[in-house]
Amino acid sequence: MKAIFASTLLAAGLAALVPYAAAQEKVLNLYSARHYDTDQALYNDFTQRTGIKINRIEAGDEALLERLRTEGRNSPADVLMVVDAARLWKAQIEGLFQPVKSAVLESRIPAHLRGKDDGAGSEWFAFSKRARVIVYNKANVAPALVQNYQDLARPELKGKVCTRSGAHPYMLSLIGAMSEHLGEQKAEEWARGVVGNFARRPRGGDTDQIKAVATGECGVALTNTYYLARLMRSNKPEDKDVVAKVGMIWPNQKSWGTHINISGAGVAKHAPNRAAAVQFLEYLASNSAQIYFSNGNNEWPVVASVNARNPALEAMGPFKADTLSLASVGRAQVNATRIIDRSGWR
Ligand code: FE
Repeated sequence: MKAIFASTLLAAGLAALVPYAAAQEKVLNLYSARHYDTDQALYNDFTQRTGIKINRIEAGDEALLERLRTEGRNSPADVLMVVDAARLWKAQIEGLFQPVKSAVLESRIPAHLRGKDDGAGSEWFAFSKRARVIVYNKANVAPALVQNYQDLARPELKGKVCTRSGAHPYMLSLIGAMSEHLGEQKAEEWARGVVGNFARRPRGGDTDQIKAVATGECGVALTNTYYLARLMRSNKPEDKDVVAKVGMIWPNQKSWGTHINISGAGVAKHAPNRAAAVQFLEYLASNSAQIYFSNGNNEWPVVASVNARNPALEAMGPFKADTLSLASVGRAQVNATRIIDRSGWR
């Protein structure tokens, strides 16, 4: 116990030295939950343009948040980058971000893709978008049956619906958005209907759902677009076979639009290099960075004037996206958690 205490003190002491050293060298400490090779090229480009070196700490979202909590005011983190509004919101309510007021970010990133703003600026900004779509087995399910998220509760789909666990942030965000649109009670009834239609207990990630739809184990499932795009761009025969058997639907085109989510980032609460951190976020909103950043994971840019020309995304065609604010989607995960507990969506 004593040894742990001593090493914690030591770590805190070392961390406290970092801001001073960092200010001398022009560095930026980036805590990122993204892990795509293309991101590295982007960071190199930023360093070339600004002379600011990026120290990147990569880990899963939860591990990064835990690290920030533990480090507290001694944290060397300047920017925290995570995936999904549910996680950004979590970091926000835990006070891990600080507000940023930037004319560049405000003009380039739409308001519904930014975090809480109490007048001092937004606590986080989206830098790429993904959509959560319905996939169906072309041989077993008529696409007319599944044009909306609400349809996943239809009695005709008994024993055909697959999803990952409702407790995963991607599902929490979608269920949270449903609760914003329908009201919590109606959203809960819907969730019970979906659970009643399960082909199997929730398990696996989005790619597993797509593959299970292709084999026919599931008739319909939900996935983020980039998992499907990845399969569409794959040269492996087994992936091509999966793509051939599966159809995709943009849900809710006649109502509020397809649920979208984001990768986003904000300036860490105790950022020792705040100016560099803001500069980095502004860089991520630039045309070239937007193309690189979004294409790295087959996502869409958030800056409306930028077209990333991603072949898989272009093949999916245009769609109407839900414009519900991602800040409220994040907040609604409190309702979503209640809904999955009551409906048994685990
Ligand atoms: Fe993912």
